[in-house]
Amino acid sequence: MLLAIRPARDFLGHGPRITASQLVSARSVGSVPRLQAQVADLSSALDGNTNNVPPPRFNPVPVREAVTPPVRPVVSALPQNRDEFWRKVPLWRDVSTKEFHSYSWSLLKFLEAALPEEVPYDRSGTQMQTRDEFIKDVFEGITAATMAVRMTPYILSRINWHDPRHDPIARQFLPLKSRMIADHPQLTLDSLHEEADSPVKGLVHRYPDKALFLPTSVCPTYCTFCTRSYAVGADTATVSKASLKPGRRRWEEAFAYIASQPQLQDIVVSGGDAYYLQPEQLTLIGERLIAMPNIRRFRFASKGLAVAPGRVLDEADQWVDALVGVSDKARRAGKTVAWHTHFNHPGEMSWVTEAAAQRLFEEGVMVRNQTVLLRGVNDDVETMGGLIRGLADNKIFPYYVYQCDMVKSVEHLRTPLQTILDLEAKLRGSIAGFMMPSFVVDLPGGGGKRLACSFESYDRATGVSRYTAPAVTGRDKENKVYEYYDPVDSLPGKTGS
Ligand code: SF4
Repeated sequence: MLLAIRPARDFLGHGPRITASQLVSARSVGSVPRLQAQVADLSSALDGNTNNVPPPRFNPVPVREAVTPPVRPVVSALPQNRDEFWRKVPLWRDVSTKEFHSYSWSLLKFLEAALPEEVPYDRSGTQMQTRDEFIKDVFEGITAATMAVRMTPYILSRINWHDPRHDPIARQFLPLKSRMIADHPQLTLDSLHEEADSPVKGLVHRYPDKALFLPTSVCPTYCTFCTRSYAVGADTATVSKASLKPGRRRWEEAFAYIASQPQLQDIVVSGGDAYYLQPEQLTLIGERLIAMPNIRRFRFASKGLAVAPGRVLDEADQWVDALVGVSDKARRAGKTVAWHTHFNHPGEMSWVTEAAAQRLFEEGVMVRNQTVLLRGVNDDVETMGGLIRGLADNKIFPYYVYQCDMVKSVEHLRTPLQTILDLEAKLRGSIAGFMMPSFVVDLPGGGGKRLACSFESYDRATGVSRYTAPAVTGRDKENKVYEYYDPVDSLPGKTGS
């Protein structure tokens, strides 16, 4: 298990030591009342004596010396020995029963340990938020979000916990209720209409020669802006996810469909995240695709290189060995394989990333990157330029920069189309053309990717841009016009967040 074997590390050089095996995750479905109760009781949880063993919920009912038939009181069926066995784990010696019962205690404990007493509320630091207020903000954000929270030790350690509210990495993974704004009415859970374009569950066939295979629906981290929020990750308080669990029967149906479509040449194996495929599963999928005469190229999509690059360097781990094996075998068969990864900010790169990317380069694995343009994360020339150059320096091809998809609960992260147009205009020419990404809009409604600058019209007053996609003709798409809508608060006369 990738995240369960990492050693403890001193978190950013301050605060108590955090064991990296403590994968921080929280979900709220089925636990909302608990989660709310926990947040409401946060102060006492932080300040109180957590060693206190809670009293038994029920007092034993005295049994009278009775002549009536003995009826065993229901209460006696409840466990009387409630030892807090988890306290044997040194990291959890202060975890109370109440906390242990909560799905979200690991996130709470982490935030308590990582945060200072106060964090800046505004960028200048003139307004502050207490630790308790920030944690409450996070848990209310989780309740409102469409994605569960999950982060790796690596990504947690790249966040500035002295100012998490303005940290561009935290902004991608940690929802804050106070930062969310009302959605544009056109936002949906499945803005690209992937389910409608799936002839087989978990296989999206939109372009004539390319299909997207979704063998799993879990990832090492969950991005709050995930385009596949209809299916990826655990259920949340607001979304019951479409199940795309790994399963041979579903996979076989997908393989059969791919093999039956001679025009299909290119397969994206995504998810979820291919990092969560077992090495033997990755090999199986790769070998099945290599064996199909119609398939000429395929890619594995995984954010793993950005959020858990240490795995690439872990000699005990077989995932990269499996990828290299598939890549080598495909090359001998005259086919190409690539790893498509997902960096959004230069701060996600470290020496670990450099060493991992170098190993992949030496092993002959082609790596390309797909970035999502996000407000407050990478929507300025300096950051996006730094990201593109950092990728190029690590032999990772900057393939796409996407306009953020129109999915629910991400309004505060979307930018107007004008932002991506300006970024491309300013960055083109700053680096060799083959390292310059395409700046694209993945058209809402399933029109596929189009260059952002290729719009038929763009009304900056209403924020509506219109595109056509002549090569995408499936279903009802002949001559279809696709519309992208700028965020409401970016329109003239509205206030930005
Ligand atoms: S890694 Fe990809 S699939 Fe997973 S949550 Fe992030 S955007 Fe969604």
